[in-house]
Amino acid sequence: MSLSPTDFSYDSPPVRVVFRPGAALTAPPEEAERLGLRRLLVVSGSRGESTARAVADSLGDRCAGLHTDARMHVPVEIAVRAVEVAREVRADGIVAVGGGSSIGLGKAIALDTGLPLIAIPSTYSGSEMTPVWGRTEDGVKHTGRDPVVRPRSVVYDPRLTLSLPVALTVTSGINALAHAVEALYAPDTSPLVGLMAEDGVRAMTRALPRLAADPEDIDARSQALYAAWLCGTCLGATTMGLHHKLCHVLGGSFGLPHAETHTVVLPYALAHNAPAAPQALTALRRALGTQDVPHALWELAGRLGAPRTLAELGLGEQDLAAAAEQVTGRPYANPRPVTTQEVLELLRAAHQGREPGTAATVS
Ligand code: NAD
Repeated sequence: MSLSPTDFSYDSPPVRVVFRPGAALTAPPEEAERLGLRRLLVVSGSRGESTARAVADSLGDRCAGLHTDARMHVPVEIAVRAVEVAREVRADGIVAVGGGSSIGLGKAIALDTGLPLIAIPSTYSGSEMTPVWGRTEDGVKHTGRDPVVRPRSVVYDPRLTLSLPVALTVTSGINALAHAVEALYAPDTSPLVGLMAEDGVRAMTRALPRLAADPEDIDARSQALYAAWLCGTCLGATTMGLHHKLCHVLGGSFGLPHAETHTVVLPYALAHNAPAAPQALTALRRALGTQDVPHALWELAGRLGAPRTLAELGLGEQDLAAAAEQVTGRPYANPRPVTTQEVLELLRAAHQGREPGTAATVS
């Protein structure tokens, strides 16, 4: 059974999803036509340039330009330049091709110009399904929610993810799991979110071992991307808690890599919250077929060769106290209250890669 339908609200956002192998090169003109767009600016990161160029070519004379300057966490000067380019080429829409960084740049243009965005994701980060934008200025990452940045159309093409290295496949997949996990115990969760989160966790945790064994398994790629869609939808529909707060602080203030940080932190954040989130744990146990969910996630990361310590991601032991202070500095939604001391203990356990649940569940 899903979460009990007693008291909830749920918005159905008007996002169209096209999911099929090969869609990255066939769907964009159709989506542009549906949205009535004739001058699209295609944006990507430099590493994704060849794919973005192929997407631009597929648009024919509907393509107004290609801009390949996306960077992690959307530095403000990169966003400002991209908005200028969109205005210079008189774009009437944007196509973002790539991971969360490329989609983040597309959102930054949409935020300033109101232009509609088509997203073609190549990772499992889930940004394409949310109204959340981010921008980094003077080393501080600012985020906000605005419906104008939510992509109007999302094209999921599993073939685009074939080139994701196994390491990034695993960490990006666990990044997606984190959205589903926190959506299950979010204050604004709902029965539909519960169904999507549970199936997202089930599909992703089954796909990742297959992809670690054979990254070119297109069926497993489809399963993982389907799971990313579900988990991203959960992220867009709910308010995230302790886990996302920890990762925001560790990425934003200490420069830790995004998907890897999610991978290391998730088992510890869940171990802390588990006693206060019984319904979420029931769904996760069903999805994973195991009783000890934090341990199962920790074990999965280890088995698939993903990082399991904050130390190996470059966080110094001397930074743990400052990070704990920042995490508890401002209130946010979480099923279980957190003190600075508890967060510090959690971070120590994650820093050393101790088995989760041993230190982090002590109240
Ligand atoms: P990313 O977009 O930075 O990509 C990581 C690396 O993978 C890059 O070097 C990229 O070139 C490469 N890459 C991407 N797709 C590839 C592919 N198919 N094959 C080979 N290489 C590929 O990383 P990400 O994890 O997708 O996104 C992280 C960013 O997105 C962060 O800034 C994060 O804050 C943001 N984000 C935002 C939201 C939101 O709702 N606003 C949600 C999730 C993530």
